[in-house]
Amino acid sequence: MEGFGFKLNNFYTKMKPKKDLEAIHKHDLRDMLKNLSLLEDFDNQKIKCQFCNDIIQEGNFGAIYTQDKKIMFSCSKLECLNKLPKK
Ligand SMILES: [Zn+2]
Repeated sequence: MEGFGFKLNNFYTKMKPKKDLEAIHKHDLRDMLKNLSLLEDFDNQKIKCQFCNDIIQEGNFGAIYTQDKKIMFSCSKLECLNKLPKK
């Protein structure tokens, strides 16, 4: 797990929304999940929105971020995205 946080921070930076939230390309999302060893969980619908507990899928992926070195996901609902930690 060493260096994990660093890697994730890079993702976070890369994905930081420009103005409005930008849809992440499916390919990028899967690539990223693969890099984080989370693709299997994702495909098994084990990844849930941190805020509303919805299962995160390609169609409703909103954001990924770290909190206390844990990986958190948010769905694409505005009410959830608004709860994301501000940078
Ligand atoms: Zn949500």
